[in-house]
Amino acid sequence: MKKIVVFTGAGISAESGIKTFRDADGLWEEYKISEVATPEAWYKNPAMVQDFYNKRRKQVMEALPNKAHYALAELEKHFDVQIITQNIDDLHERAGSKNVLHLHGEIMKARSSTYEKLIYPVKNGIISMGDKCEKGFQLRPHVVWFGEEVPNMEIAYKMVSKADIFIIIGTSLSVYPAAGLIYYTPKKSKVYLIDPQGKNIDTIENLEIIKEKAGTGVPALVEHLINSKKTTSRL
Ligand code: NAD
Repeated sequence: MKKIVVFTGAGISAESGIKTFRDADGLWEEYKISEVATPEAWYKNPAMVQDFYNKRRKQVMEALPNKAHYALAELEKHFDVQIITQNIDDLHERAGSKNVLHLHGEIMKARSSTYEKLIYPVKNGIISMGDKCEKGFQLRPHVVWFGEEVPNMEIAYKMVSKADIFIIIGTSLSVYPAAGLIYYTPKKSKVYLIDPQGKNIDTIENLEIIKEKAGTGVPALVEHLINSKKTTSRL
């Protein structure tokens, strides 16, 4: 069975009402990265950082998966699909995708600010100052901040290097090391990029750019891939 690796960014959740980072009305128009999404911010003003992520979590809980998330869950019924996401929301999982690797963490989880392997679900949507891990240290959002290591990169590189088809959706490809994943695609693989602002990537040979929103572009591509599989298996 063909292996399809899907690499998603904030753009896939935009039509669910979750703001991206860099679009004109994106989050960084309202906040400074350095004040809410860095370890320095946490040391300086943990309550403000906690509040920022509590608001983001509320937004995620109110959002619903869109047609793009559901189409990818459908794709899993026909191919060996692995999703690698830069998103911290849980919309892929809620749409039914089973194989999801989060590069930048998961907002619906909390982790110990000292023991990073101690991770807990956030039950009522809020992490408060004073909420502690079992060893007595403050809980923080289970997200990767700018300047922190991305622990899942090595496993993601391996996944991408085995892809027959690589699909990139809704990412400006500007946050590293995650954006560097695309260079691990095998030369023979077919690569699709779905993003209204999709730009050419010189080093990738078999690249097809689909300048559409995820909500229309992804279901159309999924339908095409499923139909092509049916046609080839009939030959
Ligand atoms: P980004 O904000 O840098 O880029 C967003 C991309 O999405 C742009 O290229 C834009 O053209 C595209 N886009 C906008 N609307 C779209 C649509 N309807 N369909 C398809 N594409 C659309 O986001 P990024 O590249 O993911 O990178 C940055 C960081 O943003 C990641 O680290 C991620 O953790 C974080 N982030 C996550 C969420 C989330 O979890 N939903 C939300 C905001 C930011």
